[in-house]
Amino acid sequence: MTGSDRDGTRIAVITADITTLDVDAVVNAANQGLKGGGGVDGAIHRAAGRAKLREACAAIGGCPTGDARITDGFDLPARHIIHAVGPRWKDGTKGEDDLLAGAYRASFALAARHALRSIAFPAISTGVYGFPKDRAARIAATECLIAAESGAFDAILLCCFSEADALVYGKALEREAER
Ligand code: ADP
Repeated sequence: MTGSDRDGTRIAVITADITTLDVDAVVNAANQGLKGGGGVDGAIHRAAGRAKLREACAAIGGCPTGDARITDGFDLPARHIIHAVGPRWKDGTKGEDDLLAGAYRASFALAARHALRSIAFPAISTGVYGFPKDRAARIAATECLIAAESGAFDAILLCCFSEADALVYGKALEREAER
């Protein structure tokens, strides 16, 4: 585990199945339709209870790329799910960086508004959406460090699904924390 303490906020990179985490909010790497899908989205829908989460997402309707919406956590240990829509990687010139940063920022803003003090993110956009991992990790680390400065959070977890990914996110966090 790699971590950094900033202004009373613990930022940590962990390797885990995000559906098992006991936090105020887990972030889902959702799609615009909020309809559930594969990868971490599928795992979260399964573990939260498909029917209940599908109904809550349908009531919201959808979410633009670079933004986020919140639902209950239903059967998850996490109290809430923040559905963040990261960009699909094209060639890096289509606003991908800003949209990914936006997905993190919108998630933190929603969490703060709901007074949620612990939050766990998956490696948004780096699976099926194909965002280069180094680049995504740098953006995630930067946004976590900015959010930590607000004092609104006790714990921010970057939850990777493999040790290899955790290494990439851990290195990015170390690098960005030193800047
Ligand atoms: P995207 O469409 O945003 O790329 P994916 O779900 O395809 O989303 O992948 C995002 C990341 O989530 C990938 O690094 C993938 O390995 C990871 N992932 C998949 N399942 C889980 C899980 N249960 N817990 C945490 N991370 C997961």
